[in-house]
Amino acid sequence: MQRAEYILVRFGELSTKGKNRNEFIAKLFQNLKKSCEEFDGLTFEKTHDRLFIHLNGCDQEAVMARASKVFGISSLSFAYKVNSVLDEICAKALELVSTMSDKHTFKVKAHRQNKQFQPNSDGINRAVATVILQNSELKVDVHRPDILINVEVSSPYTYIMVDKYPGAGGYPVGVAGKGLVLLSGGIDSPVCSYLAMKRGVFLEAIHFAAPPYTSEGALDKVKTLATSLSHYQGYMRLHIVPFTDLQLAIYKNVNESYCITLMRRMMFRIAKQIASKRRCKIIVTGESIGQVASQTLDSMQCINAVVDMPVIRPCACMDKLEIIDIAKKIETYETSILPYEDCCTIFTPKNPVTRPSIEKCEYYESRFDWESLLQQAIETTESVVLPLKSETEDLF
Ligand code: ATP
Ligand code: MG
Repeated sequence: MQRAEYILVRFGELSTKGKNRNEFIAKLFQNLKKSCEEFDGLTFEKTHDRLFIHLNGCDQEAVMARASKVFGISSLSFAYKVNSVLDEICAKALELVSTMSDKHTFKVKAHRQNKQFQPNSDGINRAVATVILQNSELKVDVHRPDILINVEVSSPYTYIMVDKYPGAGGYPVGVAGKGLVLLSGGIDSPVCSYLAMKRGVFLEAIHFAAPPYTSEGALDKVKTLATSLSHYQGYMRLHIVPFTDLQLAIYKNVNESYCITLMRRMMFRIAKQIASKRRCKIIVTGESIGQVASQTLDSMQCINAVVDMPVIRPCACMDKLEIIDIAKKIETYETSILPYEDCCTIFTPKNPVTRPSIEKCEYYESRFDWESLLQQAIETTESVVLPLKSETEDLF
């Protein structure tokens, strides 16, 4: 492939968002710049319905890979710039397709942003096609071409694109506000994080650790996952809650079958308090209906009853295999399946209740002083910002 000078960034769904449009595009622009920070020398340019990344000699594949992860982008192309002069346009198009020896057919699709330019789009299509037909083996196929040559004529430059890469879709992270995700070391919670970020939610994460029952390795695994997820939004703040004392108190005072339900009510209460403190408007979890005893509708009702903020469960209606597919795509799967213990799994009762009642939860909770243990857990919560850097500004 020829070395490109630019990457052209298109944002599909965003263009239809009425008066929020400018705000969305500004956010996308900011996120794109932030996620490409590590590439020295890149510059960015915004036009009415496009963004351009000036590569200035940076590794074009690496920049493309990074930009493809930024939400709010519908597609991207390497772009080649020429003066808006018909001969130059034809010559560049020919030069580009000549390097694509494995392709057999093409189609030209010209678009004039500058309507003064002559000939019109149809005339440009014909002129470019004629030059390619005369100077290469390629044939025209208007229905299913191997190469679609996009020619965008502006003033004074024209951009030519011969490939198209899918963008990550969704909305720019941050436009929807901030949420708090319950991040375990499992497969589902990184996937639910990804799906929430894709809808524009900037996430902080909370993890419940039960040392010494859970190890430093288990915590490192969660940090690795949070670091992978941070690439979608620049950085991620992870709150690590010491959960052991509360958990032991539950196991001492509560009928075994209700332990998981109560533990999850405590998790939600703590999450709610930290979410409020950090100005997060929603809680996000990786729960999926029916997956385990604590995820039946009755269990969800008991667990949800302790919080008064929206709990979003992006994986609620997905099969495990669908969740795994996404985990593989976003490259969290291999980390998630590393065999470390989670605070939920080490205390798993043999027969967890599948149809708990709120009354019974409240009855068991009345048997011990969980409030002070809960406050203590919140007070001793530690936060780290990932990826680890000496200086990270908090944008939210
Ligand atoms: P996952 O694969 O995400 O661990 P799971 O199928 O193992 O999910 P559970 O262990 O019941 O299901 O957890 C359901 C959800 O509760 C998780 O997706 C996560 O959002 C949250 N959760 C569970 N354990 C923890 C933990 N130790 N810290 C933070 N959140 C947790
Ligand atoms: Mg889990």
